[in-house]
Amino acid sequence: MNKQTGQCLCGSIQYEISEAPIITAACHCSHCQKASGSAYSLNICVAESGFSIHGETQRCYVDQGDSGLAVKRYFCHQCGSPLYTQADAMPGIMIVKAGTLDDTSGFKPAANIWCDSRMAWLTENNDVLNFDKMPPSST
Ligand SMILES: [Zn+2]
Ligand SMILES: [Zn+2]
Repeated sequence: MNKQTGQCLCGSIQYEISEAPIITAACHCSHCQKASGSAYSLNICVAESGFSIHGETQRCYVDQGDSGLAVKRYFCHQCGSPLYTQADAMPGIMIVKAGTLDDTSGFKPAANIWCDSRMAWLTENNDVLNFDKMPPSST
């Protein structure tokens, strides 16, 4: 797979994804709605070994997932862009926000998760997997 690069809105944080994603998903949970200010977050789950980040302006907000475990949401403190998340429930995985990719043309979520809280105006997409909450295999 070709390397993918991304950055925050102000450009002071850049990252590189050098491995194929484990999965991609749109997350419709209420926390992602708040954190993104949008209808859902677009997530690229990649192994930690395939992700590198450069820049000094990242901050972390420690959120709590449905599991009760910590969800660390990293963002740029200069421009506020959410960049990636690490969930204690998913060790070794970086959850990169696809909207910050430099080239989003190749991105497509393979699943919708947390459809229970999906905004009502969005139509159901049956081309991909839809889960009410988290996929059963990962809690
Ligand atoms: Zn920034
Ligand atoms: Zn979410």
